[in-house]
Amino acid sequence: MNSASRPSADVADVAVIGAGIAGLAACVFLRQRGLSVVCLDAHRYPHHKVGESLDWSSPGLLRRLGIDVKHLIADGIATYKKNIVVYETGKPEWRLTPPAQIGWRPLRFETVTLHVDRAALDERVFEHARALGAEFIWERVTGVDAVGERVNGCVTATGRRVRARWYIDATGTARGFSRAMNIPSVEYGRPKVCLWTYFDGPPLHEGTAFFLDKPRRLFELGLGHPDFAHTNERRLRPSRRARARAATARRFGSEDVRRIRLDARSAHG
Ligand SMILES: Cc1cc2nc3c(=O)[nH]c(=O)nc-3n(C[C@H](O)[C@H](O)[C@H](O)COP(=O)(O)OP(=O)(O)OC[C@H]3O[C@@H](n4cnc5c(N)ncnc54)[C@H](O)[C@@H]3O)c2cc1C
Repeated sequence: MNSASRPSADVADVAVIGAGIAGLAACVFLRQRGLSVVCLDAHRYPHHKVGESLDWSSPGLLRRLGIDVKHLIADGIATYKKNIVVYETGKPEWRLTPPAQIGWRPLRFETVTLHVDRAALDERVFEHARALGAEFIWERVTGVDAVGERVNGCVTATGRRVRARWYIDATGTARGFSRAMNIPSVEYGRPKVCLWTYFDGPPLHEGTAFFLDKPRRLFELGLGHPDFAHTNERRLRPSRRARARAATARRFGSEDVRRIRLDARSAHG
């Protein structure tokens, strides 16, 4: 099939299962490179999602998707998240901005990020993916047609069969393909339960506020409490291996380093 042509919805270069932010980002990048994409999700947009507080990699990633952060602010979808303030019972509040190190190579993150209306952001990315020509099928994938490790298609709840040269499992915690293909998952610690809600209140500042009823050293270490500045500095210093890799990259250029690593891997089979 000619990859530049429009997909006939059921046959495409790439089938993306899941239209959350990860699946949508994949749709945008693939369409930007001229591949035909069909994306399947059980729920049609708009749909509610949690995840309003974006990390510092997000503005750069959104820009690469073609989403202008300034437009998100102007359209009321986002506000700036400039710093973090911790209110601890019986203690003066402490405030921090992200460490300068996150702006260095290899991360090169920005030091101001965003709070977003997640439903509105996801819908903006969805509209963008659709405008670029991604096709959407609003049906749950209920079956994966696989022979060994090779996927030949997937089947939706209404029995519709979708075929593609490549498949991306972007079903999030549902782990659609990995469950269907018995790929083991890695569990981190005990199963967790999250509760969340929204409170109306005056904005305290342009950032994140944490309220603690008692000191939590680990929390302070993670956030860089001024009393633990020395410990944090050590934690943020790149490891010996990372420093060696950076030195090699400086010497040969990062493309060469990647090629060396790939060649080494293919040499092992
Ligand atoms: C309580 C809570 C708070 C959070 N807070 C933050 C935060 O502040 N900041 C932040 O960045 N992140 C936060 N997150 C994490 C964030 O919500 C997720 O990381 C993000 O939504 C993952 O996106 P995703 O596209 O990988 O998966 P999802 O958003 O889960 O999307 C997966 C999609 O796949 C679809 N799907 C699943 N199975 C199938 C199937 N069989 N067939 C078809 N479609 C299927 C689903 O309908 C869904 O739309 C939070 C998460 C929780 C639970």
